[in-house]
Amino acid sequence: MPARTRQRGPGFHDGAGRGSMAAMESATETPRIAVIGGGIVGLCVAWHLAKRGLRPIVLDARKAHAASSGNAGAISHGSVAPLAMPGVLRQVPKMMVDRAGALHIPLRYWLKAAPWLARFVASARPAQVEAAANALGSLFFGTLERHKEILLAEGATDLIHEAGQMYLYRDDAQMAKDAASLELRRRHGLRMEVLDRAALAALEPAVSQAYTRAVLLPDHGSCVNPARLTEVVAAGVRRLGGDIREVEVRSIRLDGRRAAGVVTDEGLIPADQVVLAAGAWSARLLEPLGIKVPLETQRGYHVMLPDAGVTVGRVLSPADRKVFISPMEDGLRVAGSVEIAGLDAPPNEARAELLLNDLRAVFPDVQTQGARTWMGHRPCLPDSVPVLGPLKAWDGIWCAFGHGHLGLTGSAPTGALIGAAIAGEKPNFDFAPFSAERFG
Ligand SMILES: Cc1cc2nc3c(=O)[nH]c(=O)nc-3n(C[C@H](O)[C@H](O)[C@H](O)COP(=O)(O)OP(=O)(O)OC[C@H]3O[C@@H](n4cnc5c(N)ncnc54)[C@H](O)[C@@H]3O)c2cc1C
Repeated sequence: MPARTRQRGPGFHDGAGRGSMAAMESATETPRIAVIGGGIVGLCVAWHLAKRGLRPIVLDARKAHAASSGNAGAISHGSVAPLAMPGVLRQVPKMMVDRAGALHIPLRYWLKAAPWLARFVASARPAQVEAAANALGSLFFGTLERHKEILLAEGATDLIHEAGQMYLYRDDAQMAKDAASLELRRRHGLRMEVLDRAALAALEPAVSQAYTRAVLLPDHGSCVNPARLTEVVAAGVRRLGGDIREVEVRSIRLDGRRAAGVVTDEGLIPADQVVLAAGAWSARLLEPLGIKVPLETQRGYHVMLPDAGVTVGRVLSPADRKVFISPMEDGLRVAGSVEIAGLDAPPNEARAELLLNDLRAVFPDVQTQGARTWMGHRPCLPDSVPVLGPLKAWDGIWCAFGHGHLGLTGSAPTGALIGAAIAGEKPNFDFAPFSAERFG
C-alpha cells in the first residue's frame, strides 16, 4: 500500500482527505490516472485500474444527492429497453397532469427541460430503440458476474441477493401495455416467467390481491445495501494501491490535444489519463473542451422503512406505480419518481411521501413508523445509453457517466471495460454507440 493512502475506515466520506493535497503532491509516486467522481461508477473503474496495479486516484467532491448510496439496488442485466419507448411516451401526458404521478416537471423548469425532452421523444423511434437496446445489451452482458467478481475479492458477496425480480400487474390488460418492452427484453435473452395469482402469492404472499398477474425475472438480482457497496468498493480501491480524496475538480487540464491533469479546489493534480465519472455533474466538465452532452438529472426519491412488518422475497415493481420495492439488509425501501428540476433545487419532500401511497397499494398493512426519505440525481441521457470510452478529439480523456436508471447495474461492467481499455488490453467491446460525440 503506498504511503499516500491515509484515510481511516472503509469509507472515504470522513473528511480525512482535506488539507492533505500538498502531502499528496510531494509523494514519490505521482498519480498518473485521475478518476473524477467516487460514486459507484467511478469506484468500479478505479477498482479495475487498481487491480491492474495502475494506482488510480479518485477525486470526489462529496456532492449532496449523489445517486449511488440510495438507489433501489436492482441489478438488471436484461433491462435493455430504453426509457423512451412509444408506449411510455403515450403515458407521459397523463403522468404530467397527475400531480401525484410518477413524472413531475415544475413549471419553472419547463423551458430548460424542453430541448432534452425533444431529444427524448426523438429517441423513441423504432431504429433508435433497437440501437439503444443493442448497446445496453452489450454493456450489461454478465453484469451480475462482474459485481460478484469485485465482491468476491473484497469478501462481501453477502451484498448480492439472487432471488430474481418480479413485475406486478393488476390484470392482463395492464400487462399488455408492457408487451413491447417485455418482448424487447425477451429477444435480448432475458428469461421470464408469467405467473397467475396463485403462483405470484406462492412467492410473495404479502402482495395485495389487487395484483393478479406477475412476470418473474429469475436471473436478475439485487444489492441489499447500495451505500455499503460503495464503501466496500472504495476500501478495495485502497487495498489494491489506489487512493481516494475528497476534493472538487474544477476543470480538466490540457497540454495541446491531450490530458495533463485536473485542476481542483486544492491545486493541480497531474495525470496522463483522466476518467470523467462525475454522474449528473459530468457534462459541465466537458463543455470547456467544446463537447456538449445533453445530460439531465432525473431526480429520484426513496423512503426507507426500518420495520415495515411485511416479508418481501425479492425486488418487486408494480407496473401501475412505476416504483421499485426492495428488501434491504436494514429494512424495506420503496424507490422511484422522476422529477426533472435540475441539480440545484432542494429535495421536494412531497415527492418522497407519494412513494408511501405506492407502497400501500402493494402492501396495504405496511408499517411506516421511522420512515426516512432520500433524494438522488440520476444522470440521464435522452437515449438511455451512457457515455463511455475515450474522447475522439482529446487524448487521455475517458468518459464513464450517464447510466440513468441503471447505473448500479452498469457500474461493474463499465469498470471492467474502461479499466481494461485504459490498461491497453483491447476488450472485445465496441465503444462507438456510447461516444460523447454522438449528440453532434
Ligand atoms: C431513486 C433511485 C433509484 C435507483 N435505482 C436503481 C436500481 O435499482 N438499479 C440501478 O441499476 N440503478 C438505479 N439507480 C441509478 C443509479 O443509482 C445511478 O445511475 C448511479 O448511482 C450513478 O452512479 P455515478 O457514480 O455515475 O453517479 P453518482 O453516484 O451521482 O456519483 C457521482 C460522484 O461524482 C462526484 N462529483 C461530481 N462533480 C464532481 C467534481 N466536479 N469533482 C469531483 N467529484 C465530483 C459526486 O460527489 C459524486 O460522488 C437509481 C437512482 C435513483 C435516484
